[in-house]
Amino acid sequence: MAYPKVQLLPDQDRRLRAGHPWAYSNELRMDAAAKALPPGEPVCLYTADGRRLALAQFNPHSLIAARLLTRNTDATIDATFLERRLARALRLRERLFERPYYRLVHAEADGLPGLVIDRSGDVLVCQLNSAGMAALEGPLLEALEGVLAPAAVVLRNDSPVRELEGLATEVRVVKGALTPPIELEENGLTFLADPLEGQKTGWYFDQRENRAFVAPLGRGQRVLDLYSYSAGFGLAAAAAGAASVLAVDRSQQGLDLAEASAARNDLASVLSVERREAFAALDELAAAKERFGLVIADPPAFVRSKKELKPGLRGYRKLARAAATLVGEEGFLAIACCSHNVAPDAFADEVRRGLRDAGRSGRLIRQAGAGPDHPSHPALPESAYLKFLVYALA
Ligand code: SAH
Repeated sequence: MAYPKVQLLPDQDRRLRAGHPWAYSNELRMDAAAKALPPGEPVCLYTADGRRLALAQFNPHSLIAARLLTRNTDATIDATFLERRLARALRLRERLFERPYYRLVHAEADGLPGLVIDRSGDVLVCQLNSAGMAALEGPLLEALEGVLAPAAVVLRNDSPVRELEGLATEVRVVKGALTPPIELEENGLTFLADPLEGQKTGWYFDQRENRAFVAPLGRGQRVLDLYSYSAGFGLAAAAAGAASVLAVDRSQQGLDLAEASAARNDLASVLSVERREAFAALDELAAAKERFGLVIADPPAFVRSKKELKPGLRGYRKLARAAATLVGEEGFLAIACCSHNVAPDAFADEVRRGLRDAGRSGRLIRQAGAGPDHPSHPALPESAYLKFLVYALA
């Protein structure tokens, strides 16, 4: 198929050739024809000297103006193309997991720019986060039908990143009927999640392996699950034998789900929840000289743009300090950072400073990221957004 032609400026094709999946608007010849293209249109990218480079989603109004779809410039971008990519994403997850609860598609890393799909059995929750993917909604739904024939499909198109692409925010059930909460399985537990009104897609699959790692560290101990949302960490610890778990979050909806999941797994007697601002809760617990054998702190992104880097880094240091203060002798601190603008070393530095501020020394026993159903694109190091550190404190 002949797609509209968009040309890179001279010498601006090097990064793309080296494997990067994007071209920024200032790297492209933004002539009148390019500017007039409807956002999301598939285009053929050409080098300045006229060679065909790749097919890409194009959005003249976005800083990330072109997102690579394929280097095969003879390809056709249709349901069959998407079905092949989806099937490849599915094959990887089926090799990784026995049960169908995972992130099925992780955007660029899975060759599907701007697309996120989380799977809970036969319920798929999709985020179409680029104009290009939004324009492919019809073929995408057809392709999903071909690959999985799901019972229900939700479009959770209410992520703030859609605004950068000039897309409206909305939530739509496009297939099946859905009455939240739904059930999903993780690490041998059954959790309740709300794909329509819950945070993001309703469940944070990215912490599965980290939850499994920290859970046994709280055996026989008091556990604090800070920024718990629906207590994925806390309930994993409860199931592994924690004496008690306190889940703190400012979202009542998250805490309600936590309590429902606790009941569903016969863990209600171990879990208590508190709706509270995290730092306020940390201060009060410290003032009351409370101590825990395991503290997990999994905050929202403190750095959402490069502008927020400095204050955000200070926030991680302050959080590490306050959380470490509540860890009892020879207890554990697990702390996460999901800001893609914060490099792993920078985060580890702030946590190290925070531990020093708290007068604690620690042995680092785990440095991890998101689980393997959240692959990162090798040329997009920031797509490895999650940092997760676990310390055994003295
Ligand atoms: N640990 C959770 C995911 C946490 S996401 C899990 O494993 O699923 C971050 C959480 O922080 C969200 O639930 C959000 O409601 C909560 N949050 C954000 N700001 C907060 C604040 N200032 N105080 C308390 N909770 C906050």
